[in-house]
Amino acid sequence: MLILHGHAVCSGAAVGRLRFYRHGRVSAQLRHVEDAGQEIERLRHALSRAEQELEDLAENAGEQEAAEIMELHRMMLADKDFRAAMEGRIREKGIAAENAVLEASAEFEALFSTMDDEYMRARSADVRDVSARLVRILTGAVAGGLDTSVPVIVAADDLAPSETVQMDKSRILAFVTMFGSPNSHTAILSGILGVPAIVQLGTDLLPEFDGKLAAVDGDSGTLYIDPDEETVAMIRQKQEDSQRIRQELESFRTKESRTGSGISVRVCANISTPEDLRAAVENGAEGIGLFRSEFLYMESGQRPDEDRQAMIYRRVLKEMGGRRTVVRTIDLGADKGAEWLKLPHEENPALGCRGIRLCFSRPELLHEQLRALYRASPSGDLAILFPMVTSCGEVKRLREMARQVREELRMEEIPFREDVPLGVMIETPAAALISRDLAREADFFSIGTNDLIQYTLAADRQNPHVEQYWDPYHPAVRELIRITAQAAREAGISAAVCGELAADPKLTEYFISLGIHELSVSPPQILPLRRHICSLP
Ligand code: PEP
Ligand code: MG
Repeated sequence: MLILHGHAVCSGAAVGRLRFYRHGRVSAQLRHVEDAGQEIERLRHALSRAEQELEDLAENAGEQEAAEIMELHRMMLADKDFRAAMEGRIREKGIAAENAVLEASAEFEALFSTMDDEYMRARSADVRDVSARLVRILTGAVAGGLDTSVPVIVAADDLAPSETVQMDKSRILAFVTMFGSPNSHTAILSGILGVPAIVQLGTDLLPEFDGKLAAVDGDSGTLYIDPDEETVAMIRQKQEDSQRIRQELESFRTKESRTGSGISVRVCANISTPEDLRAAVENGAEGIGLFRSEFLYMESGQRPDEDRQAMIYRRVLKEMGGRRTVVRTIDLGADKGAEWLKLPHEENPALGCRGIRLCFSRPELLHEQLRALYRASPSGDLAILFPMVTSCGEVKRLREMARQVREELRMEEIPFREDVPLGVMIETPAAALISRDLAREADFFSIGTNDLIQYTLAADRQNPHVEQYWDPYHPAVRELIRITAQAAREAGISAAVCGELAADPKLTEYFISLGIHELSVSPPQILPLRRHICSLP
């Protein structure tokens, strides 16, 4: 039995086979390493494995031509200049082996592709191919998707939100990754699914473990490979314990979330896809406090058109049966991309063209989404929420876009609700600091603590190296929340919290004391939070 320790992200326990996720395209998130020597060793190990693979392929290749190509690839891997380019990058830039491979590959591809000789020009594809093999070995990827017909423990170097959202959820027992941040959207998605998750298990989580039996303890952040009987029994016991706790919570499903002194707090659900709705309803959500609609744009590999969106929003509104459903307009950009969007490369994507900024540069995206939302609005109690706001001017512009859409629908005689509230996410320090002014433009606030922490403390939520600076209890964060809540109270509009902090029982009383009476959390967190609220004086 091998025991690996990582950072626990979502609690729970699981036993099952490990299956390495196969990234569809060869890519790797930029990662810096502390020990370049060790990383070079990792690269050399991958090079030997790639050579071995190619030798086996050459031996088993039926055709002479295929065998020759494999042999050529082997020679490329042995090429001194190519190796020096990769190792040099690790040494000089302190980047991970897979990043160095991709960079060196791009350099050599460019070199070959400009050569006069046609044969040499064609070699650039071979460089790409052989580099892809190396990256796959280094990251544990093989070739696209989650190849399994039974539920498995999904392993990966790291997972992009667009990859996680595309997986068949019924086949996921747990997530375990080599790298990754506990505050990332991938971590949030596992919270919504309610499956245990561990990040930062390191490179000891070898792709060779694919297919092995494993046990996950999502409370302590421990992964057991080839667990012994005693460990399996311990994990099974944990599963039974959490099952029992869930049954105990069952009585809170239909209860009102009310403190002993009679203060009511609406406990709503955060969802990412319509599939999460079932979990929201089953867990007794009093509404949808945050529908991260951008995942609709990431799950199918193509842009969902207006009709499809309208149909999805209608379905969500109907299933919520009159309970308030807050749909956030697309918050694409930063870590949330989609191939078809062709987002330009940005040095600091979290500070870049994200959320409404992307919508201002590509207004057709928001226009189409607003049309779909308004068309669906007669089906329930819809509210629209705008992400990444930093100024009143932006909100005025967004309201104007919404007004134009209403005007269009009126002309086209398409029914819609006039009174759909338009809210603002308070997730930048700027928005919190001007919340008094924003309260005149917005119908409600929703405080996105995940980004509010990231931007206030200048700590990238994707970057595990600055995790210690990502302090949810920092007084600056509290102050911004306090300012926002006060502005909302004075203006007579509501302020909810929809970031992950909403589920933190240590803060519930604080939020209530500020007059915040709506908390929106992942579906599995609804009942524990409701029980906690009911236990308060
Ligand atoms: C937030 O920033 O707190 C939030 C709720 O939105 P997201 O996590 O999707 O950025
Ligand atoms: Mg956010």
